[in-house]
This record gives sequence, C-alpha cells and structure tokens, in this order.
Amino acid sequence: MRQSQQLIPTLKENPADADVASHRLMLRAGIIRQVASGLYSWLPLGLRVIRKLENIIREELTTSGAQEVLMPVVQPAELWQETGRWSKMGPEMLRMKDRHDRDFCLGPTHEEVITDLFRRDIHSYRQLPCNFYQIQTKFRDEIRPRFGVMRAREFTMKDGYSFHADQACFDATYQEMYDCYERILRRMALDFRAVEADTGSIGGANSHEFHVLADSGEDLIAYATGGDYAANLEKAAAAPPAGRPEAAEALEKVATPNQTSIADVAAYLNIPETRCLKTLIVQGAPEAEAQDERRTHEDSRPRLVAMVLRGDHELNEIKAQKLPGVANPLRFADDDEIQAVTGCVPGSIGPLGLKIPTYVDRDAAAVADFVCGANEEGVHYRGANWVRDQPLAETDVVDLRNVIPGDAAPDGGGELQFLRGIEVGHIFQLGTVYSEPMQAKVLDQNGRSVTPIMGCYGMGVTRLVAAIIEQNHDEVGIIWPEPVAPYLVHVVALNYGKSDAVRKAADRLYDVLRERNLEVLLDDRDERPGVKFADADLIGIPHRITIGDRGLKEGRLEYLIRGAAEAETLPLDEIVSRLAG
Ligand code: ATP
Ligand code: MG
Repeated sequence: MRQSQQLIPTLKENPADADVASHRLMLRAGIIRQVASGLYSWLPLGLRVIRKLENIIREELTTSGAQEVLMPVVQPAELWQETGRWSKMGPEMLRMKDRHDRDFCLGPTHEEVITDLFRRDIHSYRQLPCNFYQIQTKFRDEIRPRFGVMRAREFTMKDGYSFHADQACFDATYQEMYDCYERILRRMALDFRAVEADTGSIGGANSHEFHVLADSGEDLIAYATGGDYAANLEKAAAAPPAGRPEAAEALEKVATPNQTSIADVAAYLNIPETRCLKTLIVQGAPEAEAQDERRTHEDSRPRLVAMVLRGDHELNEIKAQKLPGVANPLRFADDDEIQAVTGCVPGSIGPLGLKIPTYVDRDAAAVADFVCGANEEGVHYRGANWVRDQPLAETDVVDLRNVIPGDAAPDGGGELQFLRGIEVGHIFQLGTVYSEPMQAKVLDQNGRSVTPIMGCYGMGVTRLVAAIIEQNHDEVGIIWPEPVAPYLVHVVALNYGKSDAVRKAADRLYDVLRERNLEVLLDDRDERPGVKFADADLIGIPHRITIGDRGLKEGRLEYLIRGAAEAETLPLDEIVSRLAG
C-alpha cells in the first residue's frame, strides 16, 4: 500500500487523558479514534492488526476442532430470563425495546444464545462433543471505560462454547482449549501467564485466565516462587495458618479514646497490627432476610453481617460476596446502619458478644491474645481469645482475605509474589449452569436423556492489540512483532516527489517485494525526511528500508530492524533476499 493513499493520521503530541502507553501510541500512530466514551473507530492500520490476530485465532481453533458460527449482537430478553440473568446482570448490560415494546439487550456474552441454538438442533450424544466459536462485537456498559480499547464498552471478542455428554469428554476439550490459548498467545509473541480465576457473572465452578504480563495491567496475579500455583488476586489463597497458640493473657477492657483505625489502636496500645482484629460490617443477602421467620414487620433494621480479619490483612470482596447470607454484589453498611444494629460506632466494633452473623478469616481465627473493639465507643478489649471469650463455629471460619507478598503458597511451592497482568483470555468450566435451566438435553448411548456439560472460552481480540503494544514499544513508538504487524516492510522514500531516481527505485522495490508476497507500506508522501522517520518509528513496522539519492549513488541502502540499536547499509539485493528468506 502507498502511504499517500492510506489514512494514517499520526500525531506529534501525546494526547491528553491517555494514561497508558498503548492508548497513547494507538492514538498517535493513527490506529484508533474515539467516537464516544468507550467507543472507537479502527483505522486501516489498526484493522490490519485485528485481521492478523483473527487469522491466528481462527487457524489455531480450527486445528483444535472448533467450528465457526456467527450469532446476533442483539438478543431477546426471553433467553436471559430463562437463566435468571436478565435481572442479575445489572447496568453493564445495555437493554432496549424494539418498536413492539419487546425487551432486548446488546449481547455482553452469548451463553444463552448458543445454548438455545444447541437445544434446537442437537439431540444425540453422537453429535457430541461440539465446540462452536465466533469472533464478534460485544457491548458492556462498563462503569469506567479506560485505557482506550483495553476496557472499552464496545469491543471484539472471540467467544467459544463447547458441549459434552460426560465429564471426561469435557475435561479433554477444556485442556485442548487451554493448550490452544497458549499456542495463540505464543504465536503473537506475547509474554503471558495462565492463572486460576474467579468466574464472575459468567458462573460455573472453575476458570483460568490468560494474562499478558505488563506493569500497566489492571489485575494482580499471585504466583508461587517455588511451584506452579498462580491465581488472580481475586481468587488467590495462601496456605492455611498453622494452629492457634494457647491463650496466655487475661481479657481486659482498655480505654482507646479517639483511636479508630487499626494503625491508631496498634500504636496506642503498642501491639503489632497482626494481633489486632478488625471487624467490617456488610449488608446481608436479601434472600436470607426473606427467609428469616424471626424477623417481624416492625423490625425494619437492616440485616448485617460481620467480617473479622487480622489488622494487617485486607478483605477480598469477591470471596466475601460468595458467602451464604452475604449480599452479592458486596455492599458495606454505612455508619447509621451499623449504629442502628449494633448500638456502637464503626471504629469500636469487635466480634466478642456481637449479635449478628459473623465470618472470621482463617488467619484471624489463628490469633491468640488479640485486641479488638469492645462494641462501646472508645473502648477496646485486649487479651481476647477465641473459644474462651467468644465461641467460634468451624463453619464461620473461612478464607476472607487478599493474599499478600510473602504468604506461604497453598501448594507448598515457596511463597507468593505478585505480578501485574492484562487479562486477554478467560476459559470457564460451566457445568450445567446454562444447559440445565434452558433444558438442553441429548440422548445418551442407552437412550437416556442427559443434560450436556458446557465450557466457554473468551478471548479479547481488540484488548489483545493494546496488550501487544504494552509489551512491544519504546519511547518513540510501537515495535510490532512480525506475526501481528500491519505491514512487514516499510519502504521510506526520501524526496520521492522530486527525485526521479528515488521514485523509480522505490517503485521497483515496492513491486519486487509485493511479487514475493511481502506486505509493504511505501512512504511516497511529500514530507521532510525527519517527519517520515518519526512516523516510521511511531508506526513501528518491523523492517525499514530507506531510499535516498545518496544511498542510490553508492549502491547501498539503509536497512533498519525496528527496535534494533543500529541500521545497516546493504546492497538492495541482499536486503530483498534477507526479507524473502
Ligand atoms: P474484566 O475482568 O477485564 O472485566 P471479564 O472477566 O469481564 O474481564 P470475560 O467475560 O471473561 O471478561 O470476557 C472475555 C474476554 O473479553 C476478557 O478476557 C477480555 O480479554 C475481553 N474483555 C472483557 N471486557 C472487555 C472490555 N470492556 N473491553 C475490552 N475487552 C474486554
Ligand atoms: Mg468485565
């Protein structure tokens, strides 16, 4: 392609409010333009990269035996009502009505639609397993779209769904998809890590995420320094603590005037934060409220649940909101609600004698002689002990916290350390959470009707473009890895408009490279050399050949691999044979 005929509107200046390198470079290199918050147009250069990624994904999925379909972006509410997700999804799902006043949404994902397709057309175990995928637009009304296409509202996803008559068959396909994702990301030259993950609103039992490692990543990954364990912080668990020491101190109340935070109380009583327990109060689940027969209509107090953690630990909200009786999504009680239910201000709440359901983190349950709020303003207990001073049911002791660097790894593989990652893929073991409510059934070998086991497999195509740039850039621009580059070769012709020699040589080289099926961008624009070089650095095409009058006279041209320290000066034939080789 001739650069004079392709829209590549590069920008010299860094755009305001682009916080990460990939977003800045995608705007500056003329890859994307924002239409509205979280909505982008892809310009020719960017679209070429998307097509490269799609091709790699298609090739590897085909190798894995998946078949491509295309489902609609707009989906009827009825399907989502069957699985209960029409009400569960919340405002991330954009809903609308058609002219007949019927409810629809813009598809944030396609489990319902594919399960509907399946139940209409697949009836026998002989047709299983089957594995469908599509590469298609998704819409999620993200609360805070950010980092350009990394967290957009409209984006392209490869989503796949598999169906199986039995668990063994499912397990084999899940492993195949895991391996396939590794092959895809390797072909894109990415440095990545697969980790255990939370299943979020998609549901199911287990899942794995694939993270491109980058300091700008939104996710924290905990990995074992001496083993294979790796998990998203949302899901990561440390090894359980060893038992609890014996009680050694007597229980006493101490005045702690105006000391409300853990840091304040620990400093005031001269005790480490690891021996201070903090008590957080959250909303209870509405269902539990309805089922609680002891509650009368007059009792309008909110139903609350306490979460007890060691002072130096943080609550993991994902773990907390999954507990029975806890509101999902998690919502912290406000000061008035806490006061109304416990009769005490939040800073002095503690588990001893607290008359609401209480969950205790495993590590908090392993502390003896601890300090905690005494449920009286400005008063704490010290020398408090579980069992002796407060009963502790085994079922109330759970993993509630975020792991921290240095925690013992759960698989005994050394300690946990953190990395930052960009989630580019997520595969789920769905079990029958969609096939069951939607009554998808097949007949097995014995003529019995069975509910198929499902898997689902997502990969963020447009997010991948940004992730690739995060890992492949320098201070002057993008450095595209060859397999995903928009073009392989950039021929930069200096003085193309004025020098016959340059124009002829550049045109000839352009033809020669194209005859050899190499993708070439010819900079035939009427721009100064400085502008051309700066744009070439910014756009980041892997191989650059510069043609100018001086080089032509000497019979040698400048050849630069983007990202290499120095250019080489070589005869044209040698450059061509290197590229074609
Ligand atoms: P996140 O935690 O980043 O919101 P998710 O868990 O909601 O992701 P999935 O439902 O697993 O994402 O979607 C599959 C893939 O789609 C993700 O791994 C990611 O690559 C991509 N993706 C999800 N949300 C977005 C978005 N808002 N913008 C761009 N890509 C996205
Ligand atoms: Mg999401």
